[in-house]
Amino acid sequence: IEFAHCQLPPVLSSNLSKAGYEAPTPIQMQMIPVALSGWDVVASADTGSGKTVAFLLPVVVRAFEKRTSRALSRPAGLILTPTRELAIQIERQAQELVRGLPNMRTALLVGGMPMPPQLHRLKQSIKIIIATPGRLLEILKQQAVQLDGVKTVVVDEADTMLKMGFQQQVLDILEEVPKDRQTLLTSATIPLATEQLAERLTQDPVRITI
Ligand code: AMP
Repeated sequence: IEFAHCQLPPVLSSNLSKAGYEAPTPIQMQMIPVALSGWDVVASADTGSGKTVAFLLPVVVRAFEKRTSRALSRPAGLILTPTRELAIQIERQAQELVRGLPNMRTALLVGGMPMPPQLHRLKQSIKIIIATPGRLLEILKQQAVQLDGVKTVVVDEADTMLKMGFQQQVLDILEEVPKDRQTLLTSATIPLATEQLAERLTQDPVRITI
């Protein structure tokens, strides 16, 4: 398949080619149509495969859909990733994709950086949050963000999340997200503990292996 077959909003298609993404990578070919159809996904894919665009594109499309008025100003997409560096790269790619789409601001909520600018950013209407678990939990405790409008959650590098001891934090965060959300989980490998986490977080997922 090609990006053109995904019936993306025209601005999004044009942003993909401006970013130099002419043809989808194998993970994108498999994951994007499935995720756009609303399925949960458990994908075994490593950095370098193009997994970031594979999960960002469905997040952006769903966040761009019409909202009811109450949910209008609330974040619709939540991306959890284990490290600040990964979060920064994801936000950079998200910014490329949302350029020119109205009301599609992103927020980067990560540890190791001062909190006040992150809290300040949340005062604007933010559509997509890219976060590391510890910082997002801190911000949730301050009630500076509401996750009750989130439609799509990404748990990126789930195996690394577990290695870094973030399991409980991820579970606590997802308690704040509606149960009928869509969940996309990526992991380089899926050992038993990761599989068990995937079973807790996803419903009837489509499994993709690259
Ligand atoms: P990732 O695996 O998500 O870390 O992506 C690896 C690199 O591939 C990133 O620098 C992306 O900008 C790039 N990339 C992602 N999708 C495509 C694509 N369809 N065509 C060319 N490059 C891509």
